[in-house]
Amino acid sequence: METVKLNNVLVAEKPDGIEGAGFFATSVDKVVGLARKNSIWPLPFATSCCGIEFMATMGAHYDLARFGSERLSFSPRQADLLMVMGTIAKKMGPVLRQVYEQMAEPRWVLSVGACASSGGIFDTYSVLQGIDRIIPVDVYVPGCPPRPEQIIDGILKIQDLIGNESLRRRNSPEYKAMLNKYGIE
Ligand code: SF4
Repeated sequence: METVKLNNVLVAEKPDGIEGAGFFATSVDKVVGLARKNSIWPLPFATSCCGIEFMATMGAHYDLARFGSERLSFSPRQADLLMVMGTIAKKMGPVLRQVYEQMAEPRWVLSVGACASSGGIFDTYSVLQGIDRIIPVDVYVPGCPPRPEQIIDGILKIQDLIGNESLRRRNSPEYKAMLNKYGIE
């Protein structure tokens, strides 16, 4: 789904559907997906250098607002995208997990940078070797640090996931089984 220009304003293109004279029909899944993907509320969980790249991503030059994600939330209950950026010490693992658990469904997770995704260069006893050991991750952004363009690319991939997700996915046995593997009810 691409954006189109209308009177100099970029608007999201309508989803696939059936069109005729004076009508357009599509499925609820697609309309909800379109609305969700263009109004993500990210929660930045930034612990170190990758967080600085995120600050640049939010700045005027890269401007995440262009993707409908300028409204950051520091309350997990009012966020639907957890962005983990930086080194996560094992001591911080339970805090990250609690933040994830406090987010309402539907929720997505973006792991930004080598540290969040795999522990990065810190192959030590004190650093979590990837946040996917404690919470499920939807998209990984590689790099140490990733540039703002890569973070935006990760957001676009999350948007693709959101736009194509079935409304029933969160109630499916597969999704519940995946959460159960993490010990999350
Ligand atoms: S991946 Fe690199 S830039 Fe990002 S937090 Fe780790 S050490 Fe810092």
